[in-house]
Amino acid sequence: MKSTLGNQSKPSSAGRQGAVRDNAATGDWAALRAAGLSGPVEFKGLLVGEAEAVLKAIGEPRYRARQVLEWIYRRDAASFAEMTNLPASLRERLAAVAGILRLAPATKNVSPTDETTKYLFRLPDGEAVECVLIRYRHWASACVSTQVGCRMGCAFCASTIGGLVRQLAPGEILDQVLRLQALTGQAVGRVVVMGTGEPLDNYEATVKFLRLLHEPYSLGLGYRHITVSTSGLVPGIWRLADEGLPVTLAVSLHAPRDDLRRRLMPVAKRWGLDELMGAADAYTSATGRRVTYEYTLIDGVNDGRREARELADLLAGHLAHVNLIPLNPVSERTFRPSRPGAVREFQVSLDRAGVPATVRRELGPDINAACGQLRRSSGRGRAPGRTGKGPA
Ligand code: SF4
Repeated sequence: MKSTLGNQSKPSSAGRQGAVRDNAATGDWAALRAAGLSGPVEFKGLLVGEAEAVLKAIGEPRYRARQVLEWIYRRDAASFAEMTNLPASLRERLAAVAGILRLAPATKNVSPTDETTKYLFRLPDGEAVECVLIRYRHWASACVSTQVGCRMGCAFCASTIGGLVRQLAPGEILDQVLRLQALTGQAVGRVVVMGTGEPLDNYEATVKFLRLLHEPYSLGLGYRHITVSTSGLVPGIWRLADEGLPVTLAVSLHAPRDDLRRRLMPVAKRWGLDELMGAADAYTSATGRRVTYEYTLIDGVNDGRREARELADLLAGHLAHVNLIPLNPVSERTFRPSRPGAVREFQVSLDRAGVPATVRRELGPDINAACGQLRRSSGRGRAPGRTGKGPA
């Protein structure tokens, strides 16, 4: 009797190749697990040493790691298939066990002068983050978020209204910069970590992001072209001072005395101005960098002559620069921006006292540029039950 078994079970050439691929992928998964790497591996956000560990685990030469990362960070590759200087077999193996994150643009607002473009990006889990590209004459600056929502509870801020939803991974922070570059066609020369979230409340991811920005196989950005803002998490400032990364530290002060600062920023209930200024000075000593003090001017709250005098006294003898920010009003809050005359008077008072101060260019209420406003207006950040707990 003629058996049909052989004919039926004999795989086609394409089927054989598929089986070989499946077996290889199974082996790669096992090798990654044995190396302590749970899959699928997300390549965006890896430093070169981590990418080398992935390639070593699947039996590939370490030098391929840098090539893969250059494709992802410098050439903005969306898939391993695009990496044409890599063997096809390696590209297929990587595609089977690894991925390359890419944020999806959900909303784009451009200011009337075309100087500022704000994006809301959708994350893979459906959450959303804001970031902004600000054009200057010779370069562009990216302002990125480090958290979805925020738990710091600043009284004038929209980002914190729904509390902290989740931390962002380093690759999710970095991809904001990559997407801004790709979507606007503008190379980013400066990065300010000043979007939604408290960067030092997502410390590990933020520091890894800073290192990624600087690495030569990534954007190669000088640390002096990076600014990290904090609402005043004193232990985080001390820790950052020890990292050896001479980024500019921007401390959100917003009030020159403790009682007023406690009204505006719950973090001030945990760490007073003495401790905050001590940590900022330690940062200057460790890095040689002048600290920027952010001061949002709120009508009738912190913009009087008394506050200008107290601020000058507080900063006397410190290596400091003050960035005055006219408040961007938030519909859920009652605070109003200072009158232009009050802003000028405040700046002049600081100048006369020898404290350098500039007024930050307004990003534009017309594009929902204040922290957290675009995400809230898109319907995100309103979920009930997500309450911020305030700083630890
Ligand atoms: S101002 Fe910054 S730290 Fe304060 S609540 Fe808003 S996002 Fe958080």
